[in-house]
Amino acid sequence: MKISDRVKTINAGGSDGWDVFYKARQLITEGVAVTELTIGEHDIGTRQPILDAMHSSASRGHTGYAMVPGTTALRETVAARIARRTGVATGPDNILVTPGGQAALFAAHHATCEAGDVAAYIDPYYATYPGTIRAAGARPRAIVTSPTTAFQPTRDQLMAGTEGAASLLVNTPNNPTGAVYGIETLGGIAEACLAHDLWLISDEVYDTQVWEGRHISPRSLPGMAERTLVVGSMSKSHAMTGSRIGWICGPEDAIAHLIDLATNTTYGVPGFIQDAATFALGQGDAVEAAVAAPFRRRRAITQEVLAGQNVVRAIPVQGAMYAMLDIRATGLGGEDFALALLEEEKIAVMPGESFGQAAAGHLRVAMTVADDAYAEALRRLVAFARRLAPATAR
Ligand code: PMP
Repeated sequence: MKISDRVKTINAGGSDGWDVFYKARQLITEGVAVTELTIGEHDIGTRQPILDAMHSSASRGHTGYAMVPGTTALRETVAARIARRTGVATGPDNILVTPGGQAALFAAHHATCEAGDVAAYIDPYYATYPGTIRAAGARPRAIVTSPTTAFQPTRDQLMAGTEGAASLLVNTPNNPTGAVYGIETLGGIAEACLAHDLWLISDEVYDTQVWEGRHISPRSLPGMAERTLVVGSMSKSHAMTGSRIGWICGPEDAIAHLIDLATNTTYGVPGFIQDAATFALGQGDAVEAAVAAPFRRRRAITQEVLAGQNVVRAIPVQGAMYAMLDIRATGLGGEDFALALLEEEKIAVMPGESFGQAAAGHLRVAMTVADDAYAEALRRLVAFARRLAPATAR
């Protein structure tokens, strides 16, 4: 039987470089000890009090269909958190609760792009972006940034790349680059959206992981609230990746339409997960800081280990749980380097090429193992790179 072209081509022309990941997983099943620095998943689980809240909610009977837009309590809690952090008036009708940020990304593109419309996004990019855009029926267009601007898109790149598009997708703090967009980059983004009458889809799932500067939501810039859909998630802020809970924050009329989409796709998020999320958000900023703290420490470890040599250079890690390393001085591409590193040192990292062409010759290292193991893996990675590099580069 025929499968639709839309679905068959979701990954067409998509990222390569995932070989390393699958090879590492294969080695692990064969019993080989591999240090895995590939996927963006905390090395801690969801905290016990959040699990207790989930259990107690389910035991009290919140196991039936939940309200499709989200429970009133969670929508109010998310809205209040956003209003407090951004200064933009936000109420429950600005919020749709979704099964994670990923479902929010899909719904946001589905709601803002007609079939065949161009949806722009920034390269390097989170791996699902082009596929999500294709799945929503739109055509992905990459705005390719450069390591020389630490992968922040320039005003000119944004203006040229969004010409004729229906939407622009941005992500700050950024996966995979660790960039946190400052006011200049955000100003360029707002200018391009206003000049070309675009929807902005702003992926802010790492908003609690900022190590340098501060997180500014582009929805808070003049004229942007009515054309921005913010994607949020509990995955990174509260180590709740498996609970699949996130949201879209946007104009009330857009949210009303997105609720119709949710009614006909996800049919909401389990009530006991929503209750746990409401409880977790009610625990305040200190809990979020505690979940983020290991990455702040490992960012410092990254700086220490890389000091005093020039073969492996880090793009400044301003936020999120990754370090983007420039290994072009070794003469190898990211994929060849990562495959050789796995083979010889049993360390798995993601080649930059998995995140688009701008990140060729780079590696994305997820800072997601215990501090000592992380420092040791990084030291071995640097030693390995220095053995490969021509003597002049060392
Ligand atoms: N956006 C970015 C940039 C991500 O890194 C991720 C997860 N790794 C997501 C969205 C989706 O997260 P989730 O669906 O778990 O909320």
